[in-house]
Amino acid sequence: RGSRHMGRPHPEDGGGHDARNIRVKLVLLGDSGVGKSCIVLRFVRGQFDATSKVTVGASFLSQTIALQDSTTVKFEIWDTAGQERYAALAPLYYRGAAVAVIVYDITSPESFSKAQYWVKELQKHGSPDIVMALVGNKADLQEKREVAVQDGTEYAEKNGMFFIETSAKTADNINELFEEIAKRLPRPSDIVDY
Ligand code: GDP
Repeated sequence: RGSRHMGRPHPEDGGGHDARNIRVKLVLLGDSGVGKSCIVLRFVRGQFDATSKVTVGASFLSQTIALQDSTTVKFEIWDTAGQERYAALAPLYYRGAAVAVIVYDITSPESFSKAQYWVKELQKHGSPDIVMALVGNKADLQEKREVAVQDGTEYAEKNGMFFIETSAKTADNINELFEEIAKRLPRPSDIVDY
């Protein structure tokens, strides 16, 4: 708390309370094709483009959200396209990540198994206080659903994760996903301020 804040509001921050700016590295994990890139594009650009596809290496985007308590959280989002090719680099990729978002496709039981593999990987090699979210994407495809909501809920509960179903296509629960993650972040002193 800066001394200038004592007692009266300051014009720069619009109030007399501390504004905290938190920056976190967030990694996306999950089978190819589950919608990781689309989730990021929907969150960052507000778009869904079924034809766009990042194909080379890892891409990086950032987006800042403001919470009600005047905290801002800047997500630095790491998305690996072609996960399999870069599997050997995975530990480098999630090192230093405060958040891991593990995505599966609700129409694909294989992708749900793969999500569980990533959870175990992170439990072994990730930071011990990493915030993990389990995301069942493509929730708009109800008629093709092959993974029950309850399966996701139960697995997440057992593993101390936050669970949500999303649709990058309809934008359903995309902002909610990131807002919930922001609320669960440990704060403030153990995260880099800028
Ligand atoms: P990634 O490999 O995990 O990054 O997957 P992409 O983001 O490239 O998406 C793979 C395919 O799934 C694309 O054809 C997308 O159009 C489609 N897709 C992604 N999200 C959704 C969604 O929420 N609903 C539906 N119906 N299709 C989606």
